[in-house]
Amino acid sequence: MSAHRFAMFAISWDASTEAPRKSAPYRAKMIGQLSGEIFAYQMLPENIAMLEEILVLPESDPLMLRSAEKYLKEINKIRAIPQAEYVAARQNTAMTTRIWEEAKKANDFAMIAPHLANEIETNRRFLEYRGYSGHPYDLLLDDHEEGFSMATYDAFFGTLKQDLLPFVRQLHEGAVQIDDSLLYKFYDQASQKRFVEYLIQVMRFDMEAGVLKISAHPFTSGASCNDVRFTVRYMENYLPAAVFAGAHELGHAMHSQQGDPRFEGTNLQHCSAGMSESQSRFYENFIGRSLVFWQTHFGKLAEIFPEQMAGVTPEAFWRIANRTKPSMTRVEADELTYPMHIMIRYELEKQLFGQEIKVEDLPELWNSKYEEYLGLRPTNHALGIMQDIHWYQNLWGYFPTYALGTAYGAQFYYTLLKEVDLASAIAEDKMEIVNDWLRRHIHSQGGLYSPSELFRRVTGEEFNPQHLVRFLKEKYSEIYK
Ligand code: ZN
Repeated sequence: MSAHRFAMFAISWDASTEAPRKSAPYRAKMIGQLSGEIFAYQMLPENIAMLEEILVLPESDPLMLRSAEKYLKEINKIRAIPQAEYVAARQNTAMTTRIWEEAKKANDFAMIAPHLANEIETNRRFLEYRGYSGHPYDLLLDDHEEGFSMATYDAFFGTLKQDLLPFVRQLHEGAVQIDDSLLYKFYDQASQKRFVEYLIQVMRFDMEAGVLKISAHPFTSGASCNDVRFTVRYMENYLPAAVFAGAHELGHAMHSQQGDPRFEGTNLQHCSAGMSESQSRFYENFIGRSLVFWQTHFGKLAEIFPEQMAGVTPEAFWRIANRTKPSMTRVEADELTYPMHIMIRYELEKQLFGQEIKVEDLPELWNSKYEEYLGLRPTNHALGIMQDIHWYQNLWGYFPTYALGTAYGAQFYYTLLKEVDLASAIAEDKMEIVNDWLRRHIHSQGGLYSPSELFRRVTGEEFNPQHLVRFLKEKYSEIYK
């Protein structure tokens, strides 16, 4: 199964970076075949019997026990699904993703709507096979963040809505506005790449065990701590796309690279989606968007882009790079509005799986929510409802982990500050001190514990979104004073 998974990893990396567009239909068939074989291996009665036995063996070591637990959870998700239906669904999803690309280009939601409806329907049917009581969306949430449900997410987003949203609106409507035209000057791709390569050095990512490429949607994937691959995209008229998405993906990449080699080839490489996102956000927001980071590294940016940065101080760059304003797309959102983009997706997913709304109504509902929370209406569906790949890749219950990860990150930040002088480590270009703390407490733990257990071990506390609210209010009060 590890060999099959490795093949799938290599194929999907290739699909997102190098493979020609027309290769999609054949690849979808091959992916279908390989997933079918993984499915069949997993379902072998002797495999299931072995995993169940590990759970009751008195001398099972904790690593094997946790691994068996996680495999069984995955197996139980799909156990009752007939194999042919499962394989067909995987193939359909690959095609849905391809059609979404076309539909997005054509700005034509009607083209993708029936396929999206079909994905949701298939999901619902699979959840029926699995069997559940309560709300189907709760299962999907738990699939991506063990222990999380609508009750926990409602409380989390409720806090953001009550304590953060009014602050965000106040800044957007306030007297202080920051001119961000600097970010939209022309920055040639090759020079941007030089800066991303500089970031790789600053963060101490090992390129002997990693790859950097370009893709339409930046992402990181890895087979083990010795094979970590990530992508960025360069927008020549928008500098933050590569700089901050680069820092973000580098966070994911450091997380994977600093993993424990014991977990290679197992299902214990990562803890959860939220935990992974907490690490990318840590490098992006708490390091890369900090004032001290730009006081230390702005010189390099100014050296690479002397004309664009003429007369700009590190402090001014920091303020401009952190300015907040409503945006139509999630990936361009600033730190402050980002959680609002996620809240919109969460609310819609919840209603879709609760059968309260229909796929045809999505574009209108989407636009209305953007107007309500961010005060602007997407001008077209490509930049609205079709902007993200997730739903068209059959990923549901995943978006909320992005906002959750940011909030985990804030709480880790305050925990780390008790032991590490973060500002000095950044100012003295000693990122290894920060990396080491994260490695010991989080990265090397892999998926040995559930997210809530690991969270308690790191922070000694329960999850509390007020840390994120505090961090953002303090930071943005300083920027907009
Ligand atoms: Zn991420």
